[in-house]
Amino acid sequence: MTKELRAKPIIKKVYTEIREEIEAKNLSPRLDVIILGEDPASLYYVQNLQKKGEKIGIEVNALNLDPKLSQENLLAKIDEMNNNPKVSGVMLQKPLPNHLNETEIVNAINPKKDVDGFHPVNMGKLVLDEPGFVPCTPAACIEMMKFYEIETSGKNVVIIGRSNIVGKPLANLLLRKDKYANATVTVCHSRTQNLAEISKQADILISAIGIPFFVKEGMIKKDAIVIDVGVNQIEDAEKGYRYVGDVDYEACFDKSSEITPVPGGVGSVTTSMLLKNVL
Ligand code: NAP
Repeated sequence: MTKELRAKPIIKKVYTEIREEIEAKNLSPRLDVIILGEDPASLYYVQNLQKKGEKIGIEVNALNLDPKLSQENLLAKIDEMNNNPKVSGVMLQKPLPNHLNETEIVNAINPKKDVDGFHPVNMGKLVLDEPGFVPCTPAACIEMMKFYEIETSGKNVVIIGRSNIVGKPLANLLLRKDKYANATVTVCHSRTQNLAEISKQADILISAIGIPFFVKEGMIKKDAIVIDVGVNQIEDAEKGYRYVGDVDYEACFDKSSEITPVPGGVGSVTTSMLLKNVL
């Protein structure tokens, strides 16, 4: 019978561990989040982070800056945070206004405070299998596989999506010589030919593309494990809108052996991985 890979028991465990460590070591972790503008999804995410942080003992300090702030002034702000010993982690909320150079800004964050794991130093460490911050969504996928004891060693894992924040770091994590890795990894993208033929070879299929219901029943192998990273807003007759994944969940449910729901899957675990990085 298909088992739904739900986030709830995982986040309960992760948040309990974080809270206990903070209490035991009498720590005061603080995350500073840089926000430029009024993107509603972004503001909602940060409010949610603040509530979660409060419950477990992590201060989430939202800095709502003027979206017209110059590159130079933003870099100066980041420098302040880098040098403030009270700030454990620095996070940049996207999207950024067009006049800002995102690469330069990400690179200005101290790699030791780069809890998103997007700095080239942390990305390099990830590829070289050295300790460093791992981006939170790929970390969440691995955490889910660990928690549900999903065997990855020697398995065919197909990842759809090659973004810097999901597909690429996840592929590198799954290639590690590690109990929860050692996979044979294929990464697909918009130029991949015969994608369905490739995805059907997957023992574990992970989708991170941002297209609602893209993965259909015919694209997965019988008894495949399906991990849906996609979070896509679609219209809903009753509520106005709702969130769905990249996977056609209803259609794939019976054919898969295990499958993550959206919402209530990878996304919720991602937030917990971010707060774990802050700690
Ligand atoms: P992104 O930067 O837009 O990357 C999308 C990737 O999908 C690209 O590699 C793109 O290929 C590929 N792609 C697009 N259309 C495709 C198609 N028809 N066939 C095959 N590949 C295709 O997106 P992202 O930031 O990685 O996010 C992907 C999804 O994950 C979104 O729904 C996002 O909301 C969600 N997400 C969730 C979490 C979470 O915590 N759960 C975190 C981050 C993102 P090219 O490289 O060739 O363009």
